[in-house]
Amino acid sequence: MTGYNKPLPHIAGQAQEFWQGCKRHELLIQRCTDCGTYRHYPRPMCPNCGSWNAEWARVNGKGTVYTYVIAVQPFHPGFAAEAPYATVIVELSEGVRLMSNVVDCPPDDLYIGMPVEVVFDDVTDEVTLPRFRKAA
Ligand code: ZN
Repeated sequence: MTGYNKPLPHIAGQAQEFWQGCKRHELLIQRCTDCGTYRHYPRPMCPNCGSWNAEWARVNGKGTVYTYVIAVQPFHPGFAAEAPYATVIVELSEGVRLMSNVVDCPPDDLYIGMPVEVVFDDVTDEVTLPRFRKAA
């Protein structure tokens, strides 16, 4: 365990496979095996065709910044030293969106449509978070 002092995900249920993939530095997204639609967050039924059949697909983690918000006031003591910081919604090339951060990028340099790619941040012995960095 490190000195990581921010909230951690509750790893349970359908999301376990996603987090286990992150720990291996693999980004896994659920995909319907009947219609091929990707979905995230993990859930049992396809929002497109209603199928209960799905698989976990390893994706390349490339996408763009869909939107973001800059927090000037930290909403948790663990983020105080980083304020102002940005919380970002990334849209992967598969069409699904994840909430994350863009590392090594001051909030003022962010823009909607910015190309990004996933990086993995081993924040504790148990938890690895998918984050993003600016892509070429
Ligand atoms: Zn489907």
